[in-house]
Amino acid sequence: MFRPYDMHMHTDFSTDSETPMEDMAEAAVRKGLRGIAITDHYHPDYPNPVHRTGQPTPAYHRAMERLAEAYEGRLEVFKGIEMGVLPGETMARCEAAARDYHYDFILASFHSTRERTFDDLARDKRVTTEQAFRMYYEHVLMCITLFKDYDVLAHLNLLDRYAPYVPADSLYTDVVDEILKTAVADGKGLELNTSSWRYGMGDRTTPTAAILRRYRELGGEFVTVGSDAHSAKWVGDHLNEGYQFLREQGWDYCVVYRQRKPCFVKL
Ligand SMILES: [Zn+2]
Ligand SMILES: [Zn+2]
Repeated sequence: MFRPYDMHMHTDFSTDSETPMEDMAEAAVRKGLRGIAITDHYHPDYPNPVHRTGQPTPAYHRAMERLAEAYEGRLEVFKGIEMGVLPGETMARCEAAARDYHYDFILASFHSTRERTFDDLARDKRVTTEQAFRMYYEHVLMCITLFKDYDVLAHLNLLDRYAPYVPADSLYTDVVDEILKTAVADGKGLELNTSSWRYGMGDRTTPTAAILRRYRELGGEFVTVGSDAHSAKWVGDHLNEGYQFLREQGWDYCVVYRQRKPCFVKL
C-alpha cells in the first residue's frame, strides 16, 4: 500500500496552531503516513504584529530534532519551515534564517505585503478582484526574482481561496508564466496543497491543473503534497485525493526534500 508523506503542517510553534509537535506526529503514525514535514511559520514582517513573531528559534530546531529522533524507524520527520517572503530587509532576514540551520525543506509563501495581507486585499472594495490577483502574482514574481533560498512555492494560487470570486485565468497567466519560468530555471518545486479539498474549492485545486501542466511543460519536475494542517485532525487530510489528482495530470512521481534535495517518490 502506498504510504503518503505530508509535506506541510503547523504546530504550536506557529501563532495560528495550538497543537504540540508530538500530537501531529502521533496522528501521522495513526493514519499510516510514511513521513511528515514540520513547516512552522517564519513571518518576520507580517502586517499583523500578533503573527509577526515566528520561527526559527533554537527551541524550534531542537524540538524538530527530538521529534525526528523519537520517531526514527516509524515516521520520517523532515525539518522544515514556511517562510513569509517580502522584499527589502525581510528578504535578508529570510536568507539568514535559511542559512542558520540545516533544514530539509523550505516552503516560500506569500501571505502579505508589508502593509496588508492578501486576504484583506482580495476583499477590499477599492480594488477590483482582477487588480488584486495581478498585484498578488506580481508580488510573488518580484520576490522570487530576488529570493532563491527556498525549495518549493507553497499554495501558489492562494488568492483563489480568499477572493469573492476567481477572475478569468487569462487576466494574469502572463505573470504566472513568468513565475513558473523563474521557478523552473532555479530548480524549484510547486506544492500541491490539499486544503483546497478541505475548503470545497472544486476545480480550483491549489495549484490548478493548468498551473501544474504549464509547470511541467516548462520542464518543472518537483511537486510536493501537503495538507497545511494546523491541528492533528487534519494531518494527512486529502493526501490520497492529491496523489490521485497528480496521477490524472500525468505525474508518476512526487517529491520529498531531504537536506534541501528533492527525492522522487513513485506514486
Ligand atoms: Zn501558508
Ligand atoms: Zn502553512
